[in-house]
Amino acid sequence: MTIRFDNSYAALPAGFYTRLDPTPVKAPRLLAFNDDLATLLGIAKDDLPDLAATFAGNSVPEGAAPLAQLYAGHQFGNWNPQLGDGRAILLGEVVGTDGQRRDIQLKGSGPTPYSRMGDGRAWLGPVLREYVVSEAMHALGIPTTRALAAVETGEPVFREQGALPGAVLTRVAASHLRVGTFQIFAARGEIAHLKTLTQYAIERHYPEADGPMGLLTAVRDAQARLIAQWMSVGFIHGVMNTDNCAISGETIDYGPCAFMDVYHPNTVFSSIDQFGRYAYSNQPDIVVWNLAQLATALIQQTSDKEAAVEEATAIVHAIPGLIREHWAEMFLRKIGITNAQDGDLDLVTDLLQRMAENQADFTNTFRSLSAESTRDQFTDPAAFDSWEDGWRARVAQEADPISVINAANPAFIPRNHRIEQMIDAAVAGDYALFERLGSVLSTPYDDQPDHADLKRPPKPDEVVPATFCGT
Ligand code: AMP
Ligand code: MG
Repeated sequence: MTIRFDNSYAALPAGFYTRLDPTPVKAPRLLAFNDDLATLLGIAKDDLPDLAATFAGNSVPEGAAPLAQLYAGHQFGNWNPQLGDGRAILLGEVVGTDGQRRDIQLKGSGPTPYSRMGDGRAWLGPVLREYVVSEAMHALGIPTTRALAAVETGEPVFREQGALPGAVLTRVAASHLRVGTFQIFAARGEIAHLKTLTQYAIERHYPEADGPMGLLTAVRDAQARLIAQWMSVGFIHGVMNTDNCAISGETIDYGPCAFMDVYHPNTVFSSIDQFGRYAYSNQPDIVVWNLAQLATALIQQTSDKEAAVEEATAIVHAIPGLIREHWAEMFLRKIGITNAQDGDLDLVTDLLQRMAENQADFTNTFRSLSAESTRDQFTDPAAFDSWEDGWRARVAQEADPISVINAANPAFIPRNHRIEQMIDAAVAGDYALFERLGSVLSTPYDDQPDHADLKRPPKPDEVVPATFCGT
């Protein structure tokens, strides 16, 4: 056997999923394979006879138990009673060399009973975007699903733009349990399933958690930290629906996501997010909303509902405070401060306000605090100068602010315009930028002078105003 599968989800009751194989594709061609991740998963690449066929879904590896998972969710606040993997197949799980259990899932692997009107497929653009951005997220030190492989299918998929090359992404995740997985059983009144799922999630992710409220607390803590981490690198998820909110606390589902260039708290990237529900600065509020939905679902299995509601309310109400704590710690580090004093946070909020007023690039402004040229990031450099004196006086009391700044602020992020350029080139058969982004973003905190062009914000004609969901 070449992938040592150890499948736990397939052992859950039949109501949790539909067993089915991926749909084979015409001409699989391997575009990318993540050797480091494969090693972590204990997969010996040379043992797999045909990587393209395996990760296109054409040849199901021995030991796999392919299935599409069932879940529901609130999308943009609206309840959808049944979603599920409409274009994904869980091949199975492996326990890595680090002892952690992970899912191996094909995305874009053909229709399932949950496809609704969709074709079950993905096109090359979003597959490469997720590959690069999720791996960049991992290298930034932020919990995330990862990318093991990308395969071109040799078949067209049809989207608004016309016929596009089809592709399959192999996604690796601590699990694919979502808030929406709990919601579906709660909404249907399938309490036995809800209890089974709760027990499963506790055993798999939070073995110390005590019962449904213990699970809620653990997910809350993981999500609070995750959201603060997103904020600290200027990440906008774009579709924080409850079906895209992972129980593990990993970032999941890279659709119309983006890292901000110019800092502004109201930044939205997704073309389908008309009202800015998932804007950058709304993310902390949305996670409260999502966790309230998880609480509502979990409560359905408790015997004393009144007491459970009271307990769950207290757990959920603590989220904003937790996010603020993480946020403060992370943003103080971004300006070189590790030992907080009264008034330090004013330095952060003051800087952010000046950045917003002066179209400062989020990533480059913070990173350049360890060098000399920060004022150039501001349309009115004097707006930085009048902040700088107070800040310099304060960091003079810190032991090694330069190292702290360089460890807290990446030099490189996957900038949206580069991702778009990468996709355009790949469609034309040129993978040089895909390879280069993958390599540079694997060490995002290192100065890599040869790749300084990838630090540059978009020129006016390069700005990508919206990332289309046409995934
Ligand atoms: P997402 O916006 O990617 O989180 O997807 C929301 C839901 O739509 C999930 O149930 C997906 O499986 C499903 N879905 C998205 N795209 C497709 C597609 N091309 N074919 C079938 N189902 C899809
Ligand atoms: Mg999703």
